[in-house]
Amino acid sequence: MEKIIKTVSESLVTNHQCCFCGESIENEVLVAMTLKLNDGQLQSMSTHGLCLQKRLHPSVPFIAPEEVK
Ligand SMILES: [Zn+2]
Repeated sequence: MEKIIKTVSESLVTNHQCCFCGESIENEVLVAMTLKLNDGQLQSMSTHGLCLQKRLHPSVPFIAPEEVK
C-alpha cells in the first residue's frame, strides 16, 4: 500500500493532473492539497481552483486562482 501511495503522489505532482476533472493542468495556476493519511504518509494532489470551488459547500470562503486578476 505504501508503494501505491507514493506512486500516485509522484505521478500527480509530475503531471499536475486535476484530481476532480482528470484533465492536465498546464500553464494555469493550480491548487495543491496535501492529505495526511492514517499511516503518517502524505499524499499530494492538484486541482483547478474552479473544480475545487464547485465542490465546496457554499458556506466555505474560497477564491479560486482563476478569479484573481
Ligand atoms: Zn479540474
